[in-house]
Amino acid sequence: MHNLDTLFLDRDGVINLKLDGEYIKNIDQFKFISGVKDSISKLSKIFKRILIVTNQQGIAKGIMSDKDLCVLHEYMLCELKKNGGVIDKIYYCPHLSSENCNCRKPNPGMIEQAMIDFPEIKLSQSYLIGDSYTDIQAGNKMGLTSVKVDNEYTLSKWCSTICL
Ligand SMILES: [Mg+2]
Repeated sequence: MHNLDTLFLDRDGVINLKLDGEYIKNIDQFKFISGVKDSISKLSKIFKRILIVTNQQGIAKGIMSDKDLCVLHEYMLCELKKNGGVIDKIYYCPHLSSENCNCRKPNPGMIEQAMIDFPEIKLSQSYLIGDSYTDIQAGNKMGLTSVKVDNEYTLSKWCSTICL
């Protein structure tokens, strides 16, 4: 139980299906990837904490509000919790890529903020899972073991290698 430290998860393309050329703005558009709820439940038992780090520049574009995103995240957390999955905190970057902020991945700002919020995090025993190269870059900058997933190699497949 809880022998690994922190699991950082990207959201779109890891937890939920991406929408081609669209931002996920509401619950109707939010579809869990098959098997993800069970995987996060299992991972909750072996990681001390699970944190989400997600770029959401749809907010800066005015396509959705912080409130819309919070409503969506409440729904996601509730659905995961029904299955025994625990997400400790969600970090999101609302900025445009052109703003050159430090929080938008590939920059490591959200992970750095997590280190402030949870100073006990041991990065060397932590993982980051994402479906974009920028996720992997952010994880690598912080010395996390970073794993790229896709439609074939999903979070559930990775989970089956680590949750024995
Ligand atoms: Mg993604």
